[in-house]
Amino acid sequence: MRPRHLGVVDYTLAKRALLREFRQGLLSRLDICDAHPELIRAAKYLGCDASRPCPVCKGSELRLLAYVYADGMKRDNGRAFGVREAIALAAAERGSACYVVEVCTDCSWNHLAEAFRARTAV
Ligand SMILES: [Zn+2]
Repeated sequence: MRPRHLGVVDYTLAKRALLREFRQGLLSRLDICDAHPELIRAAKYLGCDASRPCPVCKGSELRLLAYVYADGMKRDNGRAFGVREAIALAAAERGSACYVVEVCTDCSWNHLAEAFRARTAV
């Protein structure tokens, strides 16, 4: 359920390409599982269950977290939020952007999942 006035960019293809390189041995686990401790912490406390296994370790600790950027948000600009809250915030702020990141709190895999951009004409 997405607000209709938010444009969506799906990062599935970029993610697939990265995972393919990992499986082919072109990238190591350390190369792709490099989540910053702060990102892991935010994913643990603010994130929601991605309800799919981690694509790298196949574990069940994959979580979704979102960041919102908007001029009008002042000190909340660039803060991490739960996905639902982030989308609501982004929908309310003209010219805002919301980035949904998937983070595995087990193996530290992290990747941009989707980006929402508020369209100027609402
Ligand atoms: Zn994992």
